[in-house]
Amino acid sequence: MIKLKYPLKFVGITQDFGLTHRALDMAWNVKYGGKNADIYACGDGVVESIRDGRNNSMVNGDSGNYVTIKYADGYETRTCHMLKGSITVKKGDKVTKDTLIGKMGNSGYCGRNKAYHLHFIVWKNGVRVNPRKHVYVYDDNVVAKSNEYKLLYYHGEDPIEEKKYIKINARSGVWCRKGIGFKYPKYKAIPYGTKCELLEKNAGTSNGYKWDKIIYKNEVVYLPNKWNIYL
Ligand SMILES: [Zn+2]
Repeated sequence: MIKLKYPLKFVGITQDFGLTHRALDMAWNVKYGGKNADIYACGDGVVESIRDGRNNSMVNGDSGNYVTIKYADGYETRTCHMLKGSITVKKGDKVTKDTLIGKMGNSGYCGRNKAYHLHFIVWKNGVRVNPRKHVYVYDDNVVAKSNEYKLLYYHGEDPIEEKKYIKINARSGVWCRKGIGFKYPKYKAIPYGTKCELLEKNAGTSNGYKWDKIIYKNEVVYLPNKWNIYL
C-alpha cells in the first residue's frame, strides 16, 4: 500500500477539505522556500498531465499551472496554482517522493485564497478524497503547530511491525492533553485498558511526570506515563 507524502516540506493547512473546497490549501513558510517553495511528487508514480504557462488569472475555479501524478492503489494527486515556468517534469516521467516537480505560485484561483499557496487535490479511484486522511507526514516534513492534529504520520516501511503500543493501566483512566504538562487543558479521557500507538516514550518532563507522545483516536496527544504499560 503506497503511503503518499505531502508535496511541500512545510505542512501548513490554511483551507481544509470540505463540501465546496475539495482539496487542501497549503501555505508557504519563510523558512522553507517562501512563496516559491519547492513542490515534490508524493511518492512513486508517473506524471499523468501538466499545464504550464498560465499567468495569474484570478478566475474562480482555475487551477492555474499544475502537475497531475498517478500512483499505485488508485491514487492521483494534482498540485495547482504553480509558478509559471517552474514545472520540471513532463507527461510520462517517472517520479518518486524526492522528485522536484516545480514551485509554488499563485496562478489560477480556487475561489478561496488569492495569495500564494498550493491547492492540493487527491483522488482515490477517481473520487476526490480528503488529503488529511490519505497523505502522510514523513520525518523530514515540518508541520505547522496548528495543523499537527488530524494528520497521518508515517512510521517506517512496515508500519504494522514497526509500531509500538502502550496500554493505559490507570484504573480510572487518564486524561490526555495536546501538549506536555498540565498547562495544557484536559483534552480527552482515555479509559483503563485502552491500547494506543506510542510515538515517543518520555517525550518530555513536566509537573513531576514523564510524558509519552501517543496517538489516541487518530490524534497526536500526550499523557503522563506513570501508569502506562509498554507492549
Ligand atoms: Zn484551494
